[in-house]
Amino acid sequence: MLKGIAASQGIAIAKVYKLEQPVLDIQKKEANADEELAKLDAAFKKTVADIEKIKTVASKSLKEEELAIFDAHLMMANDPEFRGMIEEEIKNSNVNAEYAANTVSANMVAMFEAMDDEYMRGRAADIKDVTFRLMCNLTGKEIPNLATLDEPVIVVAKDLTPSDTGSLNKEFAKGFATEMGGRTSHSAIMARSLEIPAVVGCKGILDGVKNGEMIVLDAINGEVIVNPSNEEIATYEKKAEEYAAEKAALKAMKDQPSVSTDGHKVLLVGNIGSPADVDGVLENGGEGVGLFRSEFLYMKSEDDFPNEDTQFAAYKEVLERMEGKPVVIRTLDIGGDKKLNYYTFPEEMNPFLGVRAIRFCLMRKDIFKTQLRALIRASAYGHLCIMFPMIATVAEFKEAKACYEEAKAELVAEGVKIGDKIEVGCMIEIPAAAVLADQLAKYADFFSIGTNDLIQYSMAADRMSEPVSYLYQPLNPSILRLVKMTIDGAHKNGKWCGMCGEMAGDELAAPVLLGLGLDEFSMSATSILRARKMINGLSYEEMQGLAAKAVELDTCDEVTELVKSAVGK
Ligand code: PEP
Ligand code: MG
Repeated sequence: MLKGIAASQGIAIAKVYKLEQPVLDIQKKEANADEELAKLDAAFKKTVADIEKIKTVASKSLKEEELAIFDAHLMMANDPEFRGMIEEEIKNSNVNAEYAANTVSANMVAMFEAMDDEYMRGRAADIKDVTFRLMCNLTGKEIPNLATLDEPVIVVAKDLTPSDTGSLNKEFAKGFATEMGGRTSHSAIMARSLEIPAVVGCKGILDGVKNGEMIVLDAINGEVIVNPSNEEIATYEKKAEEYAAEKAALKAMKDQPSVSTDGHKVLLVGNIGSPADVDGVLENGGEGVGLFRSEFLYMKSEDDFPNEDTQFAAYKEVLERMEGKPVVIRTLDIGGDKKLNYYTFPEEMNPFLGVRAIRFCLMRKDIFKTQLRALIRASAYGHLCIMFPMIATVAEFKEAKACYEEAKAELVAEGVKIGDKIEVGCMIEIPAAAVLADQLAKYADFFSIGTNDLIQYSMAADRMSEPVSYLYQPLNPSILRLVKMTIDGAHKNGKWCGMCGEMAGDELAAPVLLGLGLDEFSMSATSILRARKMINGLSYEEMQGLAAKAVELDTCDEVTELVKSAVGK
């Protein structure tokens, strides 16, 4: 059995599908030109057929504009000039076909990457992709592809990028297990929003399982059972049924308010990455959206930043479907581990401490302004709350707010209809902002605490790193004090305070957060009903006493014990 972190609850039993890029070792060899030309011809044919197959399968789940990448790859694979250069290299140098392809491709990539035009630089990636596929076909190596799954599997990988998780097809991908990552890595967050079981930080999984082998993914306890016996399969099938029954029972709480036994009301809302995720929020009784990670719109776009109309359509759809309930849309949070296909971020030693989120937007006000205009236009269709991520200083918040005011004034001058209750808030995920929350709250309409980053930056522990994941301690009194400062700072100024980091959906943290006075809890849609069941059984007054004790303790373990004994866990 292999141990990891249960990142998205559930149980899956299926065959392993390893998502591992083959390693190519291309060596120069002297070869017979006619034989190599024949090999090259066959490999080009297979490359074209492979891309066409992937495109056909992907066309069932992806939109027209998302399929454009496959057309670009097909054009490259069918380009007589590209092929002619490789053939020339084979004939002139009498080398093996894969070496010739590698040489030609390296020269072309270097040429494209040196171009001024951003679009042309982006084509270098297409050349690399197509040549990699061609060389794999020349050397008999398979490239796995999530879009082509056609039977139930559990995906096993070192890590999944946001675009990997984006292309997971829930019909066949029954769950995933990764070597890397923690509860707050983006693949884990995506798994919860897709509602598929996931175990992350599962050391040894890649070497521990073979393609096609049966495994049980117990993403309740964070365990993977390799080659289970018939009895084990029966036990886990029963557990999966029980889990499904518990989920069904929770559905009874879908339309109930979230209110403590002594009448203190809070809002339980959902985190989403795309308009499609609104389904999950509504099905699970979400009272709004507490975080729309708008960067997923940007990551899904293939060759340029999404334009104002594309963004407007997405924001409008979410606001309309939430029918006047609050919707917090976070402006672009890119950088760190979140990359774009069409934009190269400058190399930095510590990308998580570099040009991320609002820092990027304030440096690229053209891009920021497009998003703000789309958001403000969409505000006419519901209750929009705009939120700026990664704010470290009052000055940054004021500068971002000034951009918002400018965009709003422009739209008003253009006669565009806009909503009358737009709120502009600040995400608190940098310790400096938490410490200065009482001052920031003078300028912001609301706060939302991003604990994934707040804990990472407070503990100086990379949220992607498994060895330091023990420092992810939401219940450490140091973190609770920062949370308290933030909530108190908001309330002192008559503002509301929410939380959209994973801590908001943590069952042991909820009693303390209720006691600290948190107004809004935003979590993966699948956690909402369980959280409601818990909060509706707690006394606000008692939890205030519990929270006051918790912030005075020394360690995370002491707080955990205190909460467990108070709520009978
Ligand atoms: C956070 O940091 O807590 C947060 C919600 O933002 P993200 O996880 O997208 O960085
Ligand atoms: Mg964050």
